[in-house]
Amino acid sequence: MQVEPDPAVPGHPEITVIGDLAAAMSHAPGQEPQPVPGVSPAAKQMGRLAAANLQRRLRGEPTQPLRYRDYGNLATIGRNSAVVDLTSPSARSASAATGRGCSGCSRTCTS
Ligand SMILES: Cc1cc2nc3c(=O)[nH]c(=O)nc-3n(C[C@H](O)[C@H](O)[C@H](O)COP(=O)(O)OP(=O)(O)OC[C@H]3O[C@@H](n4cnc5c(N)ncnc54)[C@H](O)[C@@H]3O)c2cc1C
Repeated sequence: MQVEPDPAVPGHPEITVIGDLAAAMSHAPGQEPQPVPGVSPAAKQMGRLAAANLQRRLRGEPTQPLRYRDYGNLATIGRNSAVVDLTSPSARSASAATGRGCSGCSRTCTS
């Protein structure tokens, strides 16, 4: 479903759609809106924003738009194997901050 930037249903600010159901756009300052991918981190970020925006609405404050932060992608490809993509700037800084490439791994990936 196409949603507003905050990401409410058009014409129904009291209803928020998040996760895979939302055809949401990311609204980073100074950039054109970008489609948000249908992945778990995006769903979690939308959930946090939905809760925060609900609290803002209860306080009578304006809601905030979704700004998706790409911290990288990881997919398991077997019982003991996974592939990880840490090529985005957010992913690189998150990896550097923790000193870990991904959960359970003590190596920091460089590419
Ligand atoms: C095969 C596959 C592999 C994937 N791999 C990755 C990956 O490696 N990394 C990644 O980040 N993302 C991955 N994804 C995407 C990720 O799973 C989704 O983006 C994420 O789960 C979306 O979260 P959601 O909360 O929107 O939906 P869901 O996680 O699908 O949650 C929806 C929930 O609602 C429940 N539900 C449905 N209908 C009703 C109803 N009528 N009443 C009550 N409950 C209901 C469902 O049972 C489900 O628990 C993958 C998806 C698939 C299908």
